[in-house]
Amino acid sequence: MRTVVIGGGLAGLSAAYFLSAYDGEVILLEEEKDLGGLAGSYAQGGYFIEKFYHHIFSSDVFIQQIIKELGLTEKLEWRTASIGYYMDGKIHRLNTPLEILRFDQLSFFDKVLLVKAVLSARRLKDPFAFDDVPATRWVIEKTNRSVYENFFEPLFKGKFGEYENISAAWLLSRIKLRSNRTLKGERLGYLRGGFQQLVDKMAEKIESQGCEMRRGCEVTRLVIANNKVEGVETTEGFLASDNVIITTPSLSKALSPYRACGVVGQSPTIDKIRYQCTICALFGLERSLMDGIYWLNIKADVPFGAIIEHTNLLPRADYGERLFYVVSYVQEEDELWKKSDKEIVDLYLEGIEKLIHDFHREEVKWWELTKARFTAPVYELGYKNKIIPYSSHVEGLYLAGMFSSPNYPERSMDGSLRAGFECAREVMKKGKRERVK
Ligand SMILES: Cc1cc2nc3c(=O)[nH]c(=O)nc-3n(C[C@H](O)[C@H](O)[C@H](O)COP(=O)(O)OP(=O)(O)OC[C@H]3O[C@@H](n4cnc5c(N)ncnc54)[C@H](O)[C@@H]3O)c2cc1C
Repeated sequence: MRTVVIGGGLAGLSAAYFLSAYDGEVILLEEEKDLGGLAGSYAQGGYFIEKFYHHIFSSDVFIQQIIKELGLTEKLEWRTASIGYYMDGKIHRLNTPLEILRFDQLSFFDKVLLVKAVLSARRLKDPFAFDDVPATRWVIEKTNRSVYENFFEPLFKGKFGEYENISAAWLLSRIKLRSNRTLKGERLGYLRGGFQQLVDKMAEKIESQGCEMRRGCEVTRLVIANNKVEGVETTEGFLASDNVIITTPSLSKALSPYRACGVVGQSPTIDKIRYQCTICALFGLERSLMDGIYWLNIKADVPFGAIIEHTNLLPRADYGERLFYVVSYVQEEDELWKKSDKEIVDLYLEGIEKLIHDFHREEVKWWELTKARFTAPVYELGYKNKIIPYSSHVEGLYLAGMFSSPNYPERSMDGSLRAGFECAREVMKKGKRERVK
């Protein structure tokens, strides 16, 4: 029994990791030359650094289990992250009770309402029950318009752009998720030396379990006959297979089984989820940009929603320089998405100069920029019904990735690792049933 896993991101690696430990022949195909997908890294001057900022929460227990299994536990460090909010021309720190009291963009009454709303969200047993409630409505009902406009709206815009129908299930689960705090700030986990170590260790183990991994091999078509998977067409030719696991949103959309076998009209696509694009720049410089703040949300007329100073979570000494990310979540229609990397970086630097008055672009020693098309589902009203199950109606065709249930209400490394594992378990169960027959 051969299984082809499409995609060498964390979902694909996880599926291959578990399948190759127990069952049949497994081949993983990754179109890029490097593994890791969105959790991939740049090899920058002697160290690895994620292309997109990454950390984990204490509730991400599956990834912690894998980290342990791979012998990386001593590298996992929990650090206090300081957050801030840029508003009305200045940076407001929002970590300690005193800092929150000093936050002058909300009245005392607004703050009381905000704290009450946060506490009530934390107490909720089932945030998913709010799948059909707009986040905006929930906030305004629990607080007031001022709290919405001065606090939540910029955060929603930073994360989802102009989408209005974001589900309260997403917001409430985020609030619950982010409750691991001390009086100094939020506790976030990071693998000292980078998450690239997780990717490398998984790949090593997968290969040692006999799984073949073809890097730089793009799947161009899924081949299905009589409602059964026959294999995949790739840039290296046809590969026959009994099972195929799709882990990429691009294929779950473009290679719907119906389109792939030429039958149009029965179901336009199996993936009805809308996805966001992300543009993320990483800058290297000598000095700290944000005086201890790790994460700065921004409400200002600049083409990005947040600045993340990585070396305010991890020591500068690990890198020998300071590192910060600038990020925008956009849609393909957005003008920013259509611009060249250099144009985007120029706009970003202009924006930072506007916000941080003593910063000059000449201070930047180097930059990298990554644009990725499928980076997060838009968690709209009724998203729960769009989640794709692992098994499809086509025999031998499985799906596990950002669109799977462990990635609701927020996609994460933990969610994709778990999705890969749960999908592998389903493939194995079906394999066993076939053998018994
Ligand atoms: C800006 C940003 C910040 C993030 N921050 C965090 C964080 O702090 N904490 C956290 O837990 N998560 C974070 N995430 C999310 C996390 O990175 C992802 O949820 C997770 O890595 C997704 O893994 P995946 O395998 O499902 O998908 P992907 O990583 O997208 O993997 C899909 C893989 O398939 C490959 N592929 C695509 N098409 C083909 C084809 N036709 N043939 C062969 N291969 C193909 C791609 O190259 C890719 O390697 C962040 C993501 C972004 C974008």
